[in-house]
Amino acid sequence: MEFNYTPQQLMFREVVRDFAKREVEPIAAEIDENSRFPWETVKKMAKMGLFGITVSREFGGAGCDYITYMIAVEEISKVCASTCGIIAAVNSLACWPIDYYGTEEQKKKYLIPMSHGEKLGAFGLTEPEAGSDAFAQRTIAEDKGDHYLLNGNKIFISGGDVADTHIIFAKLVTRRGKRGRMCAFIVEKAFDGFSVGVKEKKMGIRASGTAELVMQDVKVPKENLLGRVGQGFEIAMATLDGGRIGIAAQALGIAQGSLDVAIKYSKERKQFGHAIARLQAIQWMIADIATDVEAARLLTYKAAYLKNEGKPFGTEAAMAKLYASEACERAATKALQIHGGYGYMKDYPVERYFRDSKITQIYEGTSEIQRLVIATNILKG
Ligand SMILES: Cc1cc2nc3c(=O)[nH]c(=O)nc-3n(C[C@H](O)[C@H](O)[C@H](O)COP(=O)(O)OP(=O)(O)OC[C@H]3O[C@@H](n4cnc5c(N)ncnc54)[C@H](O)[C@@H]3O)c2cc1C
Repeated sequence: MEFNYTPQQLMFREVVRDFAKREVEPIAAEIDENSRFPWETVKKMAKMGLFGITVSREFGGAGCDYITYMIAVEEISKVCASTCGIIAAVNSLACWPIDYYGTEEQKKKYLIPMSHGEKLGAFGLTEPEAGSDAFAQRTIAEDKGDHYLLNGNKIFISGGDVADTHIIFAKLVTRRGKRGRMCAFIVEKAFDGFSVGVKEKKMGIRASGTAELVMQDVKVPKENLLGRVGQGFEIAMATLDGGRIGIAAQALGIAQGSLDVAIKYSKERKQFGHAIARLQAIQWMIADIATDVEAARLLTYKAAYLKNEGKPFGTEAAMAKLYASEACERAATKALQIHGGYGYMKDYPVERYFRDSKITQIYEGTSEIQRLVIATNILKG
């Protein structure tokens, strides 16, 4: 077994770590407090090539492997899970499906500007009646000969309010007027009839926009069908398989960030005449967090490695997301406990880590759905 990062990956980690410290961490509390989308950071991340990390250079990407992408997600998430959510949504949920399923023309038109960070992307699957049960889509597409006509709405869409390019899932209406096969479409925000609805007020990752998308008679050109008619569900599930490794890395970053601040605080805070780090109760919490972080890291990078190698990785991705997200919540809770009352105040980042940690157990498939995926895959084997 090989547990080493390559020299290029290590160098990349240093560059992203430094960037996160200099550009992301200093504004993390402010953008969270004001629920402000950090456009200035988006521009800087674009310059660094953090959008389209795994996309080939031909289509404007950095042409890096999946492990390198996870390194970026972990490092940014360590200081700001909101900012990390922005790159994860564009890379995993918008660039990847176009890169994998798109035509040459679609890649030229949509992937290149997203890889350059000039345009942002979003993934519209969830609806009011279709959450974990993603197949229960009510958004419909009618084949009108030279175009499709889309009607419906999507909720909780990451970057929905700021994205230009949306991957939208809908069911094609059959000749008998019923909802039939699921399809994926590339929808521009500029298309007539497309609008942003409710912008959500959230508990955590408050600086990354989350919004409703409303489609009323949106004309989508035929060439904007992604993949084949009826391939929509496959595209959604394959995208989420890869995306889950990204959420595992986001959770890992929050957990590592929690560990870092807990260690620092425990050495600084004195009670009963000594630093609290000398108390066994505190040491055990730190030991538990550190062990959880390491286990989450191994699962996350193993799943990324398998994806990179073109090997089956769906079960491992679900395991990585399940474990890392639950470890993340445990880590943030213990780190907050180590801070005592100060941890409950907004003066310390651990309060934000605690709020941000929860989302990793919910989006791109809840922990219960990950267990369902893991068990189904194991039992059918
Ligand atoms: C901040 C945020 C950002 C998001 N971003 C996006 C995005 O970019 N694109 C997008 O399409 N969606 C997005 N989502 C939606 C997200 O993926 C869903 O919220 C999630 O899949 C759960 O769906 P639901 O909220 O409808 O919960 P439900 O499916 O209603 O689940 C409710 C509860 O029932 C459990 N449950 C449901 N079915 C089962 C089952 N079969 N077995 C066991 N337990 C079950 C769930 O685990 C959960 O505990 C986002 C959500 C949030 C909160």
